[in-house]
Amino acid sequence: MTEHHGDALRPGETALDLPAPNDARLRFIGRLRTPFAGREECPRQGSDDGPECRVELSPEFAPGLDGIEAFSRVELLYWLHEARRDLLTQSPKGDGAVRGTFSLRSPLRPNPIGTSVVRLIRREGAVLVVRGLDCLDGTPLVDIKPVRCEFTVQAAGKGV
Ligand code: SAM
Repeated sequence: MTEHHGDALRPGETALDLPAPNDARLRFIGRLRTPFAGREECPRQGSDDGPECRVELSPEFAPGLDGIEAFSRVELLYWLHEARRDLLTQSPKGDGAVRGTFSLRSPLRPNPIGTSVVRLIRREGAVLVVRGLDCLDGTPLVDIKPVRCEFTVQAAGKGV
């Protein structure tokens, strides 16, 4: 088990054996299942009236979903695994207008992390059914968080 100085488990807490906090290697926690087989089929950004998509967690991460049903929206972070990572400036529409990567939400970026705030329709065990995704079927999932505004109300005044 990785050492976590000063972060001993509290009663009822559970943990997996994962890399140390200063090790930036990602461990994907699941996959996003969408109807979008090719990049040209994906919307530029998801929307509330988009198709139902499935957030499929790997079984070992499923306990991490406990309590998620309390939220109507969750934020998903995912790894845009088919995007090149080396562009510092780019012309998204190919029209000659060039902008810096960090002034865009383009999938092409040094660390191709996409984020979407999606509507949580329901939970089915280790699966969340959501609307509002814009990524390819099979995109690896990095993280799930309740949206800030709903979470702030529930967690007001409390530490982690
Ligand atoms: N909503 C996210 C964000 O703002 O961070 C991503 C926005 S990005 C403009 C969405 C586009 O990325 C899609 O329209 C598609 O062209 C592309 N895309 C989706 N999934 C991808 C993947 N797994 N790998 C590479 N490109 C992807």
